[in-house]
Formats: sequence, C-alpha cells, structure tokens
Amino acid sequence: MEKIFKSHGLKFYRTGKCKRCGACEKLDCPHFKMIDDLATCDIYKGNRPQICKDFPNHPFLRVIRSGVCGYKFEPVTKKDDKKFKELLKAWQL
Ligand code: SF4
Repeated sequence: MEKIFKSHGLKFYRTGKCKRCGACEKLDCPHFKMIDDLATCDIYKGNRPQICKDFPNHPFLRVIRSGVCGYKFEPVTKKDDKKFKELLKAWQL
C-alpha cells in the first residue's frame, strides 16, 4: 500500500525514488555529502530522523516543482487535485 503524504489539508501519493542527484541538498543537513557525484547520507543505515525518511514530503518543494527530483506527487482525489492547482496559482508557484 502506498504511503499518503498530507500537506495544507491535501493528500498526495508519492511515487518514484531518489536518484541521488543532490539537488535538494537535504535541507543543508550536516550528514549530507556528495561522494563520487552521488548524494550520500552518512547516517543512512543508522538512526535517521523520521523527517529524513519522509523527505521529500510534499509537492510544494522547489525540487519537486522543477521536476529535478526523482520523486513525484499525485493528488489522491479530484478534490485534492483541484485545490492543489488553486494553491499553486494563488502562490504563483
Ligand atoms: S532532489 Fe530528489 S532525487 Fe535528488 S537527491 Fe534529493 S531526494 Fe534524491
């Protein structure tokens, strides 16, 4: 079963996977490094915080909107899709 991510009262499915491009820089995390041109987390197999396991967690992030990230978000319902488009337009994203 796919995990559902919630943001601004909307629900999204996340598909895809990390392609280790490094574009997000994991929000300036001190554990993030580029090694041999691959984004690398030096505590990936350790005790990562939940926020790191969930990242990226919503479609409003710049790396998601730009299409650079290997992850994509799909609104769960038509109502979520409609409201999502309204928010993007209202926020001029
Ligand atoms: S931008 Fe997306 S694909 Fe690239 S390193 Fe970050 S999470 Fe992975």
